[in-house]
Amino acid sequence: MSAKHLPTDVVVALDVGGTGMKCGLVRADGTVLHTERHPTDAGRGPDAVVETILAVAEGLAGKARADGIDPVAVGIAVPGVIDEARGIAVWSANLGFRDVPLRGLARERLGLPTALGHDVRAGGLAEARLGAGRDGGHVLFVAIGTGIAAAHVVDGTAATGAHGAAGEIGHIQVRPGGPRCGCGRPGCLEAVSSAAAIGRRYSALAGVPATAAEVADRAAAGEPLAADVWREAVEALADGLATGQSLYDVQTVVLGGGLARAGTLLFDPLRAALHERLTFHREPRLVAAALGDEAGCLGAALLALDSLEK
Ligand SMILES: [Zn+2]
Repeated sequence: MSAKHLPTDVVVALDVGGTGMKCGLVRADGTVLHTERHPTDAGRGPDAVVETILAVAEGLAGKARADGIDPVAVGIAVPGVIDEARGIAVWSANLGFRDVPLRGLARERLGLPTALGHDVRAGGLAEARLGAGRDGGHVLFVAIGTGIAAAHVVDGTAATGAHGAAGEIGHIQVRPGGPRCGCGRPGCLEAVSSAAAIGRRYSALAGVPATAAEVADRAAAGEPLAADVWREAVEALADGLATGQSLYDVQTVVLGGGLARAGTLLFDPLRAALHERLTFHREPRLVAAALGDEAGCLGAALLALDSLEK
């Protein structure tokens, strides 16, 4: 990060999810001065969500000024397909967005330079520069929750892809003929190994509802059905990560999202399964994310700061 910003400069950062927004004021050195959370309430429709995003950003800039701090830029991270170069949220199922020129709208409303980014790529950027991947130049951040998405960060920049859709590792087909994915194809990684998929699979077989965390606990306690479901998910995840390593050859794979909280129940068997699958490739360091659910907001702040350098 640049030294040319004054210590009193901050950026306004928003990580907009389907249910909530994590927002804050972040200094150029990554220090978080203030955080806020707001409901997204996506059911109100895209126009209302955009208005809330702009109002929250405006409120944060106003708070900074009231505290004698100068807001110098805005960073907004949203899920979906994001054209970062043009500042357009091309498509977001969670937010109902289709071709929303969010960067221009924020710039107009707040009068500040604005960066628009993808939520998982922003989270990956933060983990790679400030969190668990900060020792490695090439980092793959994989967020495993309701779905599975990734960010490939090289020397502090997350690759966006030609169409704003890089990192969709959750849609690598690991089990042809397997459970149907939300994208329509059977056997995608996220249809087998996401936290949601693990809960669904166990619930269907056991006839009782359970979360992925409960499946992990039951597997650890020796319940055979839970152990089977967990092992299948871990093996599919290892297949996906092995493909990722073939493509990206990273030093560090950072796992985030809800599933990574399973700790050694996940990491021990996953490391072993990944080791089995890699032949000539160098094995990446496999570590848990360090920044928790603030990663996306910190990443949005980094995008805002980076945009000032250009
Ligand atoms: Zn899919």
